[in-house]
Amino acid sequence: MVADFLELGLSNELLNAVAELGFEKPTPVQGTVIPKLLMEEGDIVCLAQTGTGKTAAFGLPALEYLDLKNPKTQILVLCPTRELCRQISQDLTNYSKYLEGIRIVSVYGGANITGQIKDLGRGAHIIVATPGRLLDLLKREAADISGISTLILDEADEMLNMGFKDELDAILSQAPETRRSLLFSATLPKEVENIAKSYMKDPEIVTVGQRNAGSANVEHYYYMVKEDDRYAALKRIADYNPDIYAIVFCKTREETQKIADALQKDGYDADALHGDLSQAQRDHVMERFKRHALHMLVATDVAARGIDVNDLTHVINYNLPQEIELYTHRSGRTGRADKKGVSIAIINQRERGKIRRIEAVIRKQFTRLPVPGAREICERQLVHLINGINSVEVRDDIYSFMPVINELWDGISREDLVKKILSYEFNRFFDYYRKAKDLNIPEKESRNRRKSSDAGQDQDAASGDNAVRKERKARDGNPGVCEQGFVWLRLNLGYKNRVIPRDIISIMKACGIGKKAVGKIEIFNEFLYVALKDKVAEYAKSQLNGALYDKRRLSASLLR
Ligand code: ADP
Ligand code: MG
Repeated sequence: MVADFLELGLSNELLNAVAELGFEKPTPVQGTVIPKLLMEEGDIVCLAQTGTGKTAAFGLPALEYLDLKNPKTQILVLCPTRELCRQISQDLTNYSKYLEGIRIVSVYGGANITGQIKDLGRGAHIIVATPGRLLDLLKREAADISGISTLILDEADEMLNMGFKDELDAILSQAPETRRSLLFSATLPKEVENIAKSYMKDPEIVTVGQRNAGSANVEHYYYMVKEDDRYAALKRIADYNPDIYAIVFCKTREETQKIADALQKDGYDADALHGDLSQAQRDHVMERFKRHALHMLVATDVAARGIDVNDLTHVINYNLPQEIELYTHRSGRTGRADKKGVSIAIINQRERGKIRRIEAVIRKQFTRLPVPGAREICERQLVHLINGINSVEVRDDIYSFMPVINELWDGISREDLVKKILSYEFNRFFDYYRKAKDLNIPEKESRNRRKSSDAGQDQDAASGDNAVRKERKARDGNPGVCEQGFVWLRLNLGYKNRVIPRDIISIMKACGIGKKAVGKIEIFNEFLYVALKDKVAEYAKSQLNGALYDKRRLSASLLR
């Protein structure tokens, strides 16, 4: 394994780009695979976990071999999802910053095919594609892979999980015999082995790190609660970790949406990512998550596949996945780039066996944690708040107000003042958690569940009032940029009024504006911004200004 980028044998153009990305030394996969690809021949099957830097491991050597004067497609990368497609082509674009004239085209389902056909028509040295869409494009003769020298199957296990077997067969049988094939996968199930056997030439199998093992930096915990308390437990976990930045994994699209809606309603910065969303909606969610405007991304496994986020504090298994492999994928999303990661599972009493089975596969122990109670949560939040106050920068602007401040606080002792300020921020928290019950199941009770006494009260925290979170919601904010051809309309409604994006779509609909004319939506505590198509914006403003919503007089303005 090579430990320095300079020793890998890459050209200066690529080395400079890599240095600008802040990559200081090759990851183990890169140190192993790049020299093989540059200096040796033959097909490779590379098994390594998510987050180990596989994209550059295949991307850099592929770019090294590219003949920019040859306009034909020379490299084909296949991957399971559109997010991943876009991520990989973005990564390759970054690496090839200094390769002039390079054309990288990504094509994937769920997006307009005509645009992709046009893109391909302008030439593509590299195509990054999902199997279904590529096959479609090959049938229409919009793509040509007859001249490829390198074929890369990224996340092959996932492509097969997603049912792309037939498409892969069809594509692989069309690729030229002379090509070099590389297959990357986190796991090596039978189906992947079969692909390797049928379509690769005596591949060398390179395993980097402990395959199938939970990433070394990740700690695994579980909370055991009654089935009905799952959501309440999630909220407690979030409240106990004021700096949370997490992906919350759910089983189905429906559940994903339901949990995200509930979290939003309860005042958390959360949103859903799943296959029922349009491309624009997904992009918007991802953009907000990446800039930390969202603290919790509630996602299905499929939707979360391509996400490249390095600084997650937690991965939360709202439900454990059916397949143990998926647990490895999920937990591999945290603990990246040498940071400590935490993977949490919320389970009910009957799921302990599942935890044991996962432990056997990942060869690591889970630790059971008690669900934090009211007192611990309030204390953590208080400490967080006080730390925030302590570290705030005091600007000069405050000095001119000091006489007024002193006058208003004249005669109050330091202690009373501190109490008042903290109570001002915290009373709602205290109110909320005063009613909160203990969600933990006593060890003994795990097996024979109580049926009688606890049914009534169980609900309170779960469906809960959302006063608590609002307190911490941004009070002001800037909506950033909206889509081209759109303009921000500002409305005096916000989380405070319990509006969620769906309400805004309904409001627009009520004044005759369809979903297509509505773009991004940003909701703050006191007000919100909605992006509207230029053509309808003035009209919307005139319709909304002065109208009543939920007994509230609306005021709308455009941000030109
Ligand atoms: P994988 O495909 O194995 O899941 P990626 O290729 O997506 O992993 O890389 C994971 C993250 O690590 C990306 O954000 C990438 O930019 C970063 N990364 C890759 N190689 C290096 C490196 N040598 N040094 C620092 N960061 C790296
Ligand atoms: Mg990858």
